[in-house]
Amino acid sequence: MGRLTEIAPGVLIATSSYAVTTTTVVVGVAGSGECLLVDPAVTVADLTELAGSLGDLGLRAAVGWSTHPHWDHVLWSAELGDAPRYAAPAAVSIAETERDGMIEYLEKSAPGHDLSLIGRLQSLDASAIPWDGPTARLIVHDGHAPGHGAVFLPDSGVLLAGDMCSDIEIPLLDTVAADPLGDYRAGMERLAAVPGVRQVVPGHGHVGDAAELRRRFALDAAYLDAITSGKPADDPRLAGGPDWMRSVHEDQVRYFQQ
Ligand SMILES: [Zn+2]
Repeated sequence: MGRLTEIAPGVLIATSSYAVTTTTVVVGVAGSGECLLVDPAVTVADLTELAGSLGDLGLRAAVGWSTHPHWDHVLWSAELGDAPRYAAPAAVSIAETERDGMIEYLEKSAPGHDLSLIGRLQSLDASAIPWDGPTARLIVHDGHAPGHGAVFLPDSGVLLAGDMCSDIEIPLLDTVAADPLGDYRAGMERLAAVPGVRQVVPGHGHVGDAAELRRRFALDAAYLDAITSGKPADDPRLAGGPDWMRSVHEDQVRYFQQ
């Protein structure tokens, strides 16, 4: 895992070498030693390193947030402590019903975790994460996955977008949902309507500024227009992307051809 890097006052990001996955730490009230930990990931070594870095900074997780119920966003380790870990209600119910599948993916991709801690989330139906630190507003939608909860930090203008708004991933639709396209577009609209975003942190990829966020929204909209109208998707993220993403892309194209 890369080092924790401060991208805005009190907002630190670490990036795993696994799928360019980001972990976010939001520092709490000065002197409290508390932090909010969003999507700690991915490997056992990553989490050990993260726990060590937090210790070096005199921080401990007071609360955790999982942006959505996919295996690489519901991880935890004993070294990170026993803070309450929240997710949106729809995400929690998927994490429970799909637990076996998530653990199968996890064991294939990043083995060795304490499985008793995976996906152990409490349902939070609220407009913000309950804690004493900087306001962490929740933007919950069903694009990409049910109960996908992005976090907006108005004090620093940082949007933690979960698996949306990526510079390296195409829109990945939840094609088992009743209306994957409607859900995704609704999610994009809700994120685009957040006022005062100065930086975006995708779950996989790189931090971008407001102009870069607009570029990503435009790319995402063009991608969705292409696959839903049967036109070739000329998306730069596909060209250099991994095999799994091209294969998901082909599945998405087929989904809309039916
Ligand atoms: Zn995901």
